[in-house]
Amino acid sequence: MTKILIIGAGGVGRVVAHKCAQLPAVFTDIVLASRTQSKCEQIAAEISERLGRKIATAQVDADNVPELVALLNEVKPALVINVALPYQDLTIMDACLEAGVNYLDTANYEPLDTAKFEYSWQWAYQEKFEKAGLMALLGSGFDPGATNVFTAYLQKHCFDEIHTLDIIDVNGGDHGYAFATNFNPEINIREITAECRHWEDGEFVATPAMSEKRSFTCPEGVGTYNVYRMYHEELESLTKHIPTLKKAQFWMSFSDNYLKHLEVLVNVGMTGIEPIEFDGQQIVPVQFLKALLPDPSTLGPRTKGKTCIGCLATGIKDGEQKTVYLYNICDHQACYEEVSSQAISYTTGVPAMIGAKMILEDKWRKPGVWNMEQMDPDPFMADMNSLGLPWRLIEAPDFELT
Ligand code: NDP
Repeated sequence: MTKILIIGAGGVGRVVAHKCAQLPAVFTDIVLASRTQSKCEQIAAEISERLGRKIATAQVDADNVPELVALLNEVKPALVINVALPYQDLTIMDACLEAGVNYLDTANYEPLDTAKFEYSWQWAYQEKFEKAGLMALLGSGFDPGATNVFTAYLQKHCFDEIHTLDIIDVNGGDHGYAFATNFNPEINIREITAECRHWEDGEFVATPAMSEKRSFTCPEGVGTYNVYRMYHEELESLTKHIPTLKKAQFWMSFSDNYLKHLEVLVNVGMTGIEPIEFDGQQIVPVQFLKALLPDPSTLGPRTKGKTCIGCLATGIKDGEQKTVYLYNICDHQACYEEVSSQAISYTTGVPAMIGAKMILEDKWRKPGVWNMEQMDPDPFMADMNSLGLPWRLIEAPDFELT
């Protein structure tokens, strides 16, 4: 019996619940809990209709450690898959330690009142998890997540030393709205408007947000897109764990239309995280904006096109300089048909499920707090191919970021 508790019934939670439910031999019992239980019940009903499988639901405030511990003691799962928000990472880790449960998430901790995310807070739990004989697997989404595993695969199979790494995240999907974000708008906008940092010659170099732009032509006819350099959390762990990296950058595609709207929203203060006084009430602008924007979990039926996320790496093998591109392409409509979600939630939820599978099958289980690139990439990559995210490797690609 391997019981899991999924916390968070948003876009990603829906995918994780569906994908785990597809594998009853691995995930024998599933409980889905969130702040709003009706959202869990709706997902459970979809799974029951689609797969004929019952999953249990629960209500929990994941900011509240005693409430979480009570739920963990009642459910007694082998593992918690945390797909709530980054604000809840530490409370859920604390509760897991208290109740003796393994932990997995897809995004690193971010304090609610500071738009800053880094691994230091979660890495500080290393000794506690190790002593408790429990595992915490950090960042098991796509980026971070699959991109870390891709880099570990390149390091293991393609290079003696990786020297440069460009993680390129293209979303060629169109949902038809003038402006919407593909995952939680508050987290998304905080990330995009943050100062950019990339790794160069042994240190992080800061540049203004969205100030570096390139063009990238995706393989397999996905198209040519403008991509912008941003800071992304996997850069922190990858540059720590792969010390041969001389330069590491993260690029994400944005349409001109998206950037035009974002610029106006930033300029008028709608992306602010400081509370303001309005009609005798305190409101946080970005949270108000979130309430106005389409719920990302409703974008599925409208989104058409593909995502293409991969790692373009250069380095040396047997004394020769080489370049390799390792990537996945995912179709929004195909995802929607399978799990009622668009590809952004799908590409995050599938690696979360595979990471959980790696732990439950003892392929990756070891006490302590770990990033994905510290694990053997091979079993994870094999599961990506068979469980919804097939990847391809191009040796000496004839394209580059231009
Ligand atoms: P959503 O906003 O759609 O869903 C978040 C869910 O968490 C909601 O169901 C929400 O509650 C629940 N939640 C929030 N606060 C609490 C709380 N205090 N207690 C209990 N439940 C709570 O976000 P997404 O599904 O888009 O994203 C989920 C996670 O995935 C985020 O951490 C995000 O950063 C991460 N992510 C990672 C990616 C990657 O590639 N690594 C890519 C995309 C996202 P309620 O029940 O009220 O709705």
